Amino acid sequence: MIFTTRFAPSPTGPLHLGHAFSALCAHDAADAAGGVFLLRIDDLDQSRCRPEWEARIFADLAWLGLAWAEPVMRQSDRLPRYRGALGSLWERGLLYPCRCSRADIRAAASAPQEGAPLHGPDGIVYPGTCRPARPPTGPMPDLPLRLDMARAMAALSAPVEFIETGTGPRGETGRIAPHDLFFSVGDVTLARPGLGASYHLSVVLDDADQNVTHVIRGHDLFDATAIHIVLQGLFGLPVPVYRHHRLIRDENGRRLAKRDDARAISTYRAAGLSPIDIRRMVAPTPDAPEHVSPPRGS
Ligand code: GLU
Repeated sequence: MIFTTRFAPSPTGPLHLGHAFSALCAHDAADAAGGVFLLRIDDLDQSRCRPEWEARIFADLAWLGLAWAEPVMRQSDRLPRYRGALGSLWERGLLYPCRCSRADIRAAASAPQEGAPLHGPDGIVYPGTCRPARPPTGPMPDLPLRLDMARAMAALSAPVEFIETGTGPRGETGRIAPHDLFFSVGDVTLARPGLGASYHLSVVLDDADQNVTHVIRGHDLFDATAIHIVLQGLFGLPVPVYRHHRLIRDENGRRLAKRDDARAISTYRAAGLSPIDIRRMVAPTPDAPEHVSPPRGS
């Protein structure tokens, strides 16, 4: 199996130094292993994605000196694939429609008998308001669909004691027991009308269809990895090796956001910095600063 990894940005804003770091980590790992580095465009949310941001992703990564294998996969081209996979989970009774708004979920999760609401990888853990006693039947509705996590765990072909979720920035390994996955992650949304599929479903299918052997991404996704491994189990897909790198932060310790133009790759480029300077700024060396500052004068 050829070492294959990927960088999968969403074209919803400028790439910043956090993205540069993530792309460099994946690219350099593929290079060191004599493997393949892929670029994938996560453009499922067409209301937020723009062709001009996509063009800037290509330009910024090429300027950084990265090369990727063609063709570039775009999630917006893959809706039938996602729909088919959702259909198979629906047929197996593992999905249910959910009509709750965010406010409903907040209210239900904050009810006195529930204790403090728990937060999982997708926000407040869904309290199960719409979860049916028996799996729904009939055609799959065009409504938000949630994975019934307890049923999903029971449907895995081999019972699991722990789900190993790869390594974190300090080499620590992640593991979560099925019981904890149910309570701390819960029934995640896998389909939204208008978007087709959720990030969790699409990323799992994309990685499998692209024969990705190593997923190298930020620590913010450590908890989501367990969801992805459950989905791989349900679909009978191979589980890649997961590595989660540290996050690049600003002077206040906050991780960089898409709207953070001051730390956009293009801002440093316009200020005269070179790709080597960017590598130096984000390099995981012992003397690397804990945070990155905008270029002087911006
Ligand atoms: N588009 C996702 C993000 O930017 C990709 C995450 C992943 O690498 O799985 O967060």
